[in-house]
Amino acid sequence: MNKIVIIHDDSCNGCSRCVDMCPKKILYIEEGVRKCRVTDENQCDRLGGCEGVCPNKAIRITQN
Ligand code: SF4
Ligand code: SF4
Repeated sequence: MNKIVIIHDDSCNGCSRCVDMCPKKILYIEEGVRKCRVTDENQCDRLGGCEGVCPNKAIRITQN
């Protein structure tokens, strides 16, 4: 389970907005299920840009 980038599959509709805006290019859409996934979350800048563009609040960044 991810510890930094938390994705709620039930809310994610696979719209790719977070993927398109992520400056670190660590987000992608898993084909078939059409859900957001993260490659190397340790590269995350934790600035929350993805949270800001997600229409469903399906992605969250932990700050601890
Ligand atoms: S917080 Fe920034 S770097 Fe981290 S996944 Fe979201 S958009 Fe990408
Ligand atoms: S912006 Fe939200 S709903 Fe769209 S792919 Fe990303 S996490 Fe899923």
